[in-house]
Amino acid sequence: MAVANQKGGVGKTTTAINLGTALAAVGRKVLLVDLDPQGNASTGLGVYAQDRGPTTYDLIIGEADLPDVAVPSGVPNLDLAPATVDLSSADVELVTDRQRVLRLRNALGRDTALAQGYDYIIIDCPPSLNLLTVNALVASDSVLVPLQCEFFALEGLSQLMLTIREVRQTLNPKLRIQGVVLTMFDIRNNLSSQVEEDVRENLGKLVYETKIPRNVRLSEAPSHAVPALIYDHTSSGAVAYQKLAAELLRRMKDSVAA
Ligand code: ADP
Ligand code: MG
Repeated sequence: MAVANQKGGVGKTTTAINLGTALAAVGRKVLLVDLDPQGNASTGLGVYAQDRGPTTYDLIIGEADLPDVAVPSGVPNLDLAPATVDLSSADVELVTDRQRVLRLRNALGRDTALAQGYDYIIIDCPPSLNLLTVNALVASDSVLVPLQCEFFALEGLSQLMLTIREVRQTLNPKLRIQGVVLTMFDIRNNLSSQVEEDVRENLGKLVYETKIPRNVRLSEAPSHAVPALIYDHTSSGAVAYQKLAAELLRRMKDSVAA
């Protein structure tokens, strides 16, 4: 599952870390793939650049296999494929490679993932619709889109939807939108409620019932190198991500039944 939105700062990494942790907490084996050269998911889980062995850069370039790249995150059941700034040069290095959009899919192939025993692979995308994000969309069964509750929230979405449609029509027909998650929701702010109304009216059932509130614990946790669920499991943010995980599992079951 790709966590994607080409806007920065909308809660992709926070969602990838905490949703991954919440799924791990209910017994699913989860791999979090850090596909952002900024490496925020990696540092947020306490895997620092100087300690990193092979990274997602090596995975994409084809210089390492998943078992060499994935490391324990410190959270039981949650592994991490870390990223460093090297990853930012991958698109240039792959420019002449005709298979460049298939790189991640090949590296994470179903057989590889199954051999590692992962139930879910969550890919934290960079804030752009570049080659890395396209690799993530090609490798995924679904996309989860965090949407920040602010004015113009819907504006950037059409470009993302277009990219998803293109990937579906060409390289990955099974790709679907898992859902849109409203993030940084502020109950004291009328704008948040207006945006919610607007987004639900436009996107209907695609929008998750669970909203992620603006919660300082979610922003503090990464500096303690742990997910919010471990930093303060009673915080509104941690509770919301547990609800989101439950809703996601429900939706997955629904879509299997359908
Ligand atoms: P992205 O990965 O889309 O760039 P991040 O998840 O890194 O976004 O979030 C951007 C910033 O906002 C980070 O500093 C993060 O800690 C903070 N943040 C994310 N979600 C919330 C939230 N629900 N409440 C408060 N702060 C948040
Ligand atoms: Mg991020």
